[in-house]
Amino acid sequence: MEVVDRHQNIFPHPAPAPCKFRVTRLKNIRIVLIGTTHPGNIGAAARAMKNMCLDQLYLVQPKAFPCAEATARASGADDLLARARVCASLDEALAGCRLVVGASARLRSVEWPQFTPRECAGRMTAEARLGPVALVFGRESSGLSNAEMDRCHYLVHIPSNKKYSSLNLSMAVQVLAYELYLAGQAQMDQGPRPQREVVAADVMEGFFQHLEQTMQDIGFSDPRQSDKLLRRLRRLFNRARPDRDELNILRGILSAAQGRKTRRG
Ligand code: SAH
Repeated sequence: MEVVDRHQNIFPHPAPAPCKFRVTRLKNIRIVLIGTTHPGNIGAAARAMKNMCLDQLYLVQPKAFPCAEATARASGADDLLARARVCASLDEALAGCRLVVGASARLRSVEWPQFTPRECAGRMTAEARLGPVALVFGRESSGLSNAEMDRCHYLVHIPSNKKYSSLNLSMAVQVLAYELYLAGQAQMDQGPRPQREVVAADVMEGFFQHLEQTMQDIGFSDPRQSDKLLRRLRRLFNRARPDRDELNILRGILSAAQGRKTRRG
């Protein structure tokens, strides 16, 4: 009797080979949960990740972890929980990351460059071939703060009911992890793509602090009113994704401007 694969016509994507993209890219994709309040959501997120072949879980200041409720909801993905990195700050979780994307239920007043889940997954899996990347999720009650979004190159929003757009945290992880899985499968057979070596998020952070300090030193901005201006400048430089040489030039210019001001002073 002929065996019919009932799934073959409904999946336009390559047949899901069991976690083959794991070896090359998986280790470079971090799922970062900030300030999670309900440990059950951490467990459910771990389960969603393991289903989709992701295993780098970073927890920034979770309210309660480790926790029996998290283990119960992980339901067999407790190995991910055991290996989860608990971080004191977002900086620690993002150290070394070349690309950072923030998942947000809300669209913000200062517009961030925005990805659909599919674009996000394509870009993240492509860049994960070159180094660590992070997908950041906010708190159940209040999501990601603007200061946390400042650390992200892009925002990703899961299209949903405009009047009820906030998914449960672990469900949001599930949707985006599924897209990462499909994108990873689709890219599995591609050879290495030469790309520029961009600087990591923590190095950019040093540059942004230098920029803010210089703007104050030379009297360009009033520190009390510089928040919006800095946010715009962050967006500008994050869009450009400078490499190390370019960043050194920019920092040299900042230092020169500071020195000149000091000499004049
Ligand atoms: N009440 C919060 C939402 C919290 S939901 C707010 O208004 O921002 C917890 C997290 O799940 C969010 O911070 C986000 O990272 C993710 N999330 C929930 N719904 C989402 C959506 N529609 N698109 C992208 N991420 C979403």
